[in-house]
Amino acid sequence: MNGSPLASYAACPSHSRGRYHSEPAPNYRTEYQRDRDRIVHSAAFRRLEYKTQVFVNHEGDLYRTRLTHSIEVAQIGRSIARALNLNEDLVEAIALAHDLGHTPFGHAGQEALNQCMADYGGFEHNLQSLRVVDELEEKYAEFSGLNLTYETREGILKHCSKENAKQLGAIGLRFLNKEQASLEAQLTDLADAITYNNHDVDDGLRAGLITIEQLNEVPFFSEQYSIVKKSYPDLPKRRSIHETVRRMINRQITDLITTSTALIHSANPETVDDIRAQSHSLIKFSDAMAEQHHALKQFLRQHLYQHYKVYRETIKAQQIVHALFKAFMDHPRLLPQEHYNTLNKIQKHFGETGRARTIADYIAGMTDRFAITEFDKLFP
Ligand code: MG
Repeated sequence: MNGSPLASYAACPSHSRGRYHSEPAPNYRTEYQRDRDRIVHSAAFRRLEYKTQVFVNHEGDLYRTRLTHSIEVAQIGRSIARALNLNEDLVEAIALAHDLGHTPFGHAGQEALNQCMADYGGFEHNLQSLRVVDELEEKYAEFSGLNLTYETREGILKHCSKENAKQLGAIGLRFLNKEQASLEAQLTDLADAITYNNHDVDDGLRAGLITIEQLNEVPFFSEQYSIVKKSYPDLPKRRSIHETVRRMINRQITDLITTSTALIHSANPETVDDIRAQSHSLIKFSDAMAEQHHALKQFLRQHLYQHYKVYRETIKAQQIVHALFKAFMDHPRLLPQEHYNTLNKIQKHFGETGRARTIADYIAGMTDRFAITEFDKLFP
């Protein structure tokens, strides 16, 4: 587990499928470390601090933002990668980049922007994350985007419709050929799910939108909570919650490592290409844990994400996104000069669809508070 060499089927820079624009190898870091560094230095990464997942950014300083969420995914992902002798650097890069394409206002914003883009190819946050690192970041002299390795980009594109996959070239092929991504990509996807399930419990309780009594209906929570209460009857509430959530995370990670180790062992892959050729993912929870994980997710959907207070924010967010989109579509001159110039250039080639895409890029890049300010400026 510690310092053991990478498994032969781990992603490895020396077998990387490379970068779109070839570059000399880095001297003091690996290719995936270089990807991670580029992600950390990107503007989109800094914006994650002011974007929400569930709670609007100004609701309180202790709630997760997309930035702290991404850091937690990287932490959990790296722990799993290390235990499975997989490439931690790659997992870290994917984790830190996986939410770069998210709109302001979490899922509400994404849904609204997707509705706005219905006639122009839609809007999907995974695809947008890839767009951010492939095109939208403008920092380097020699290329647009961050010119990341294939493996990091593969991990960022978690899901993709066949329609979209056809337009993406090499990176879309696995969705058409039904191949798997690297184990690093597979595990980061599950690390994401472990992370948000558990931190949403914590944030939801903190916000008072869900209660311990309600959560006790979820066996996975109540099991751990009752152990904590029995072992530490006098522990204050917040510490009991934290101790419970910590144990839940630990159980999920342990289960994932044990189950995946067995699956990998029986598939007996030798190279990362053997992993890609598998008919199914080798990073999985046990059936029992998958069920518990799912039950918790269902609980959160019903009691937290659809809570009327969250729903109010959702509707407000959707109105803001719709209003901004319509205003910019009707009057592109409202855009800041630099975005207006881009719009003109793209519109020349792609007409109204190009106009819509430029506006979607602009809105998707906004933080929650920036979107609110833009809205207030345009609709006083
Ligand atoms: Mg995420």
